[in-house]
Amino acid sequence: MDLKLRDRLVLVTGSTSGIGKGTVKSFLQEGARVIVNGRTEQTVKSAVEELSTYGTVYGIAADVAKAEDCQQLVKQVNEIGSLDVLVNNTGIFEVRPFAEVTDEEWLNYYQVNVLSAARLSRAFLPGMMSRNFGRIINIASEAGIKPYPELIPYGMTKTSLITLSRGLAEVAKGTRVTVNSVLPGPTWTEGFAQFITDLAAEKGQPLDTFITEYFKHDVPTSLIQRYATVEEVADTIVFLASENASAINGAAQRVEGGIIQSIL
Ligand code: NAD
Repeated sequence: MDLKLRDRLVLVTGSTSGIGKGTVKSFLQEGARVIVNGRTEQTVKSAVEELSTYGTVYGIAADVAKAEDCQQLVKQVNEIGSLDVLVNNTGIFEVRPFAEVTDEEWLNYYQVNVLSAARLSRAFLPGMMSRNFGRIINIASEAGIKPYPELIPYGMTKTSLITLSRGLAEVAKGTRVTVNSVLPGPTWTEGFAQFITDLAAEKGQPLDTFITEYFKHDVPTSLIQRYATVEEVADTIVFLASENASAINGAAQRVEGGIIQSIL
């Protein structure tokens, strides 16, 4: 299948590791030109070096939780070219009892997980609409529709992203711009792998046993009973960005292995 992404200009925020980096790689393999973003020059430079073997990669360091950094990012992207695809991937999460989360932490969650996406969408959507092509893909989570008691602020930001996506799809109604959200479930990124490996070691359990037990007891509704791979999530994002997915608009695409027990 030709996804017709050749030479398209793509920005993936928070793409120096994890799902973001995997998404950059998948876009490059389809011939797109991709802008990597992270907070420091150093992490961006090393991701660009690593990913350059797959195609044309640019790097822009910016903290997308900050308005002034977003302004600079937008300016630098526009100097490279007209943006075709915006993937708002940056996201933070922490497992914390609800009562311990301070106002400052709540506000930080919204700055990093929601306002970053809202600001960049505000900057790039009008250009996409006037050129009559564009994709905005917001990386939410299954936690956005399945509230977990120890992840309430995180889950609320992801619900917000799902709403933002549908709302922006309405704004772009009648154009060839689509806006969707992607809802990954537990995904085996470098960061997650380290976290789980440490937890298994703390419990004195072999990693395989720890993971099997985790899915059996903590995520029993998962149909795949394993972590999704970064590639599985990345390839879904890339497909949604393709011309082939033009009729998928305003949707919340689950890539969570069936954790949500719902037919829709
Ligand atoms: P990760 O922590 O591995 O990578 C996040 C990237 O974002 C890093 O490169 C980090 O440097 C960058 N980043 C963080 N704050 C930033 C900021 N303010 N400005 C610019 N860059 C910033 O994360 P991940 O696990 O790959 O998750 C990516 C997205 O997928 C997030 O939105 C996350 O909520 C979502 N998600 C992940 C999982 C999972 O299991 N990994 C599950 C559901 C949803």
